[in-house]
Amino acid sequence: MTVVCPVHRCGRGLHWGKRSCICPAGHTFDIARSGYVNLLLPQDKRANNPGDTKAMVGSRRRLLDAGLGERLLEGLAAALAKIPIPRGARVLDVGCGDGFYLAALVNRFGLEGYGVDISTAAVDAAAQRYPGPRWIAANGDRRLPFADQTLDCILSITARKNPEEFKRLLKPGGRLLLAVPADDDLAELRQAVLGQATAKDRVRLTTEAFEENFVLESHETARLAVYLDQPALLDLLLVTYRGARFSAAAGAAALKPLTVTSAAELLCFKLKSA
Ligand SMILES: [Zn+2]
Repeated sequence: MTVVCPVHRCGRGLHWGKRSCICPAGHTFDIARSGYVNLLLPQDKRANNPGDTKAMVGSRRRLLDAGLGERLLEGLAAALAKIPIPRGARVLDVGCGDGFYLAALVNRFGLEGYGVDISTAAVDAAAQRYPGPRWIAANGDRRLPFADQTLDCILSITARKNPEEFKRLLKPGGRLLLAVPADDDLAELRQAVLGQATAKDRVRLTTEAFEENFVLESHETARLAVYLDQPALLDLLLVTYRGARFSAAAGAAALKPLTVTSAAELLCFKLKSA
């Protein structure tokens, strides 16, 4: 079993039962009615990034249903096809949100999927909608609840990136698929709300963070322009700024429907051999 007990210094394999997961030392974790398991520890409640609220999960879902994630999903599928990833390969999505990308890829490629997110609202929504993969609430900033070298591929889609953990978890030659916002991602929205469209060069920063243990194999850009009405723009503001930064911005209330660029850089890395 690749999923392990999250209790400090335990780390034994978790048996996945009907109502709970239990390790040989007797640590027990409830499985929610929807089917996800909660492996959050008490200290995770004080995490720096508490994850999406239920309202944010709803906003993200509406945006994905409106097609905002289609181009990125196609890019991820093309990258997996190119590797190529075998059927039954074990794939972890760190920061899986409501499971949109992982569930589609698991379905398409016949993978064994694991989705982790710190937001119980997000994994609850994932488990309700997509019964295939295993959904786990856990803190991706800490030690991830998986055994060493048991994963074929890790996805981190505009989520947290933990190079040491990713290295620990991947099998030799395993792949890491990272999506980071492109410089022009949501540029029109930032222009309208903040009066600026700053670029951050995340590709260089990400490559530098991973180059010690990973080789960059491919780099594609997934870009899509979508016309969004005001309710959709408010959804986008909520998930982008958590409602904090834009509430003060005079532009938010007066937002007119807008064509917005959704753009992500897709980086595929291979774990270097030891
Ligand atoms: Zn244990």
